[in-house]
Amino acid sequence: MAIVAPGSTIGILGGGQLGRMTAMAARTMGYSIHILDPDAECSASSVADRVVAARFDDPDAAADLARNCDVVTLEIEQIGVDALTAVTRHAPLRPGVDVLAVIQDRAKQKSWLSKNGFAIGAYRDIQSAEDLARAANELGPLFVKACRGGYDGRSQARIASASEAESTWESLGKRHSVAEKGLDLQAELSVMVARRASGEVRVFPPSLNYHARQILAWSVIPAPLPKQTLDDAEAIARGIAEQFKLEGVVAVELFLLTDGSLLVNELAPRPHNSFHQTEVACSTSQFEQLVRAACDLPLGDPGVRRPGAIFNLFGEHWEAGAPPFERALALPGVRLHLYGKRGSRRGRKMGHLSAIGETSDDALTRVRAAAAAIGATIE
Ligand code: ADP
Ligand code: MG
Repeated sequence: MAIVAPGSTIGILGGGQLGRMTAMAARTMGYSIHILDPDAECSASSVADRVVAARFDDPDAAADLARNCDVVTLEIEQIGVDALTAVTRHAPLRPGVDVLAVIQDRAKQKSWLSKNGFAIGAYRDIQSAEDLARAANELGPLFVKACRGGYDGRSQARIASASEAESTWESLGKRHSVAEKGLDLQAELSVMVARRASGEVRVFPPSLNYHARQILAWSVIPAPLPKQTLDDAEAIARGIAEQFKLEGVVAVELFLLTDGSLLVNELAPRPHNSFHQTEVACSTSQFEQLVRAACDLPLGDPGVRRPGAIFNLFGEHWEAGAPPFERALALPGVRLHLYGKRGSRRGRKMGHLSAIGETSDDALTRVRAAAAAIGATIE
């Protein structure tokens, strides 16, 4: 397959912050950017040459986008398969429809992972309140997740026992779900892996992630964890990319259990919040790596030049008006990234702070100090 040379046009399905940062990396390399997003004034719109404003399940709009692009990639996996297929009639879609169809459905994703030998936690497929009650009786406390449409802990519920099954099933809109056994986590980590059509694979070192209320609060690379754990995590991620014959990037979220074992939590076939620090820490950012992979260009060096950490900024940090960013920016090694979003409702990711340091702990300490300086706290 011919490379998509710098100067060509890249289409991105989704214009949120991940699309915006991918667009910025692509622009640096001379590409033009077309975006499909329901919101004409989405986060990526200010760095795009064209925005097709339409729903993610609109095949005509997807075809309209792709017709004017040399390759199409994405920043969100919840795109209708008909729309994805419409893209492929006009331009290469990377990652491809088969990969996306598996990953965009939690039940399909889990059965693909176990069928291909990747370890995951105990779970049950849930189609009714009775299924949920049975799962709670068999597995104990559960994380219940709708198969489609959830992110940042949305479309999810935690239940302690079967007595909550009925109300939880109702609250999730009686949608096809999976119920996962609540696991004893020692830590959460993620690995970003890129593969391009030619078969070349590059793996970023794992990052260590901290979640509050099921949403990522901070992340640091390289993860300060034992070498064996890191090697095992990288091998799992590489294996997943190769098994998929991936063209693009995939983030593999992993649970490190208290007994030291690693389980795959979930996959994301796109840039990931826990690798934003690659912009400051690594030779190649995750965004540039996606551009290279989607364009079948030689992949960049994913090595860490300097440990780096990020701290997410949410809508609630705007409640008393815009935070006093100058206080964070006065600290050495700290940078500010804002996503250009218009509204700042609670829980909405508005931007992040990043910091580099001599060690991972040092980078994390600095970014947390920067967050504290502007009054951004973890609830
Ligand atoms: P999302 O798509 O919102 O990222 P995840 O499945 O990754 O959904 O869940 C969000 C977070 O909730 C995880 O990163 C983890 O902190 C917690 N979590 C999810 N499932 C489990 C589980 N089975 N056991 C323990 N913690 C979990
Ligand atoms: Mg997750």
